[in-house]
Amino acid sequence: MKIIFLGAPGAGKGTQAKKVAQKMNILHISTGDLLRQNVTNSTSLGRQAKDFMNKGALVPDELVTQMLIDRLSRPDIEKGFILDGYPRNLNQAKKLDEVLADKNRSIDKVIYLDASEPVIIQRITGRLVCRSCGANFHIKNMPPKKNMVCDHCGGELYQRSDDKEETVRKRLEVYRQEAACLIDYYSNTGRLIKIKADDEAEPVLKEIFAVI
Ligand code: ADP
Repeated sequence: MKIIFLGAPGAGKGTQAKKVAQKMNILHISTGDLLRQNVTNSTSLGRQAKDFMNKGALVPDELVTQMLIDRLSRPDIEKGFILDGYPRNLNQAKKLDEVLADKNRSIDKVIYLDASEPVIIQRITGRLVCRSCGANFHIKNMPPKKNMVCDHCGGELYQRSDDKEETVRKRLEVYRQEAACLIDYYSNTGRLIKIKADDEAEPVLKEIFAVI
């Protein structure tokens, strides 16, 4: 199964993709996570991407696409995957279809998580992420049992530098500019499934399982 999760920052792509991937025993490939690893390790890609990310802008297509092609060329993708954070514009969507077609593969389903702006802002500005395992928490909605400590691995929780309200607004603006084209592209090819994503994580997860 090859699935894309589409939706605004804060729509719940990361939270839901992790759970679905685990349950289905397929990979969760998050371009945001891959980029952040590159920034942390100060690779050449990370150094080039960092300023774009901190401003809430998109990292240039050629850099992200090459990173994704490298990831998709590893043999473990045979078990199936969920893409989270890619594609983010029409150019990336077309490129992805080409790369998969070269391997005689294609995307089976595109799950579009549709959340409203006040919910998104509230979710992102309260989000906490584990430095060790990447698990997501929320100060109010999904608080960790112990203050700033991950329930799953005991790692330290932190707020992403691009999760401050001003940067979140910029990320949403960038998302809105590109989203309509992407949604059209996948609905025109009969692959889009829209799910209302304002509700809490558990009921939204149930809906996702119901459609896949
Ligand atoms: P969110 O979807 O919540 O904004 P991500 O972790 O997916 O968070 O992405 C964080 C940042 O990484 C984005 O704001 C952007 O700068 C960069 N990024 C991630 N995926 C892509 C992509 N496919 N194309 C360009 N930039 C990307």
